Amino acid sequence: MSEFVFQPTVPSVAIAGSTRRYPVRRIYCVGRNYADHAREMGVDPKQEQPVFFTKPPDAVVPNGATVPFPSRTENFQHEIELVVALGSGGRDIPAGEALKHVFGYAAGNDLTRRDLQQASRKKGMPWDTGKAFDASAPIAAIRPAALGHPDRGRIWLTVNGQTRQDSDLNELIWKVPEIIAELSTLFEMRAGDLIFTGTPAGVSALQPGDRIECGIEGLEVLRTTIGARQ
Ligand code: MN
Repeated sequence: MSEFVFQPTVPSVAIAGSTRRYPVRRIYCVGRNYADHAREMGVDPKQEQPVFFTKPPDAVVPNGATVPFPSRTENFQHEIELVVALGSGGRDIPAGEALKHVFGYAAGNDLTRRDLQQASRKKGMPWDTGKAFDASAPIAAIRPAALGHPDRGRIWLTVNGQTRQDSDLNELIWKVPEIIAELSTLFEMRAGDLIFTGTPAGVSALQPGDRIECGIEGLEVLRTTIGARQ
């Protein structure tokens, strides 16, 4: 029998203006939450329920880091998203109470192996290989909610200085309080839960060496470099 050492570490995210870090418990993501992006993915934006999927907590990548170009994809794409960080939680949270549970907000990038995601979707299979791979969740520092709850403002992404995504948070189909309320009917929400709230139109393929900047009005700009193929 071989010996092994396993010392679990808690993944964490920087907090703007603080030396403390935000420990990550879970990462939830909302799919197709901007009407323009749903149309570019070839699906009807007028669906009754939001689409949820998850990423593993250790998929988080700090601001300024290099993400290796992942294996098994020829269509690796970016998705700028508003990320909500919960400071408390519960079950069956009413939308009117939801913002009380928000610790803060950050700019995040829901990196996607689009070819694997689309192949899974066609077969009615889970999205994990397309969405929940290593280093698939770059995230900038979290701005505490005491500084405000952003419900409008520019959300944008550039690759090598060229604009690829440019929209406004007020285009969200499911708003932050509705997302928290709906998720809390499916899962018990808790402190440490991050929610990627969906991306606007303009997703496109990345190449090794690309430099990505993405931002949301009032939040820290997230900078990521794409490294060599794994
Ligand atoms: Mn997304």
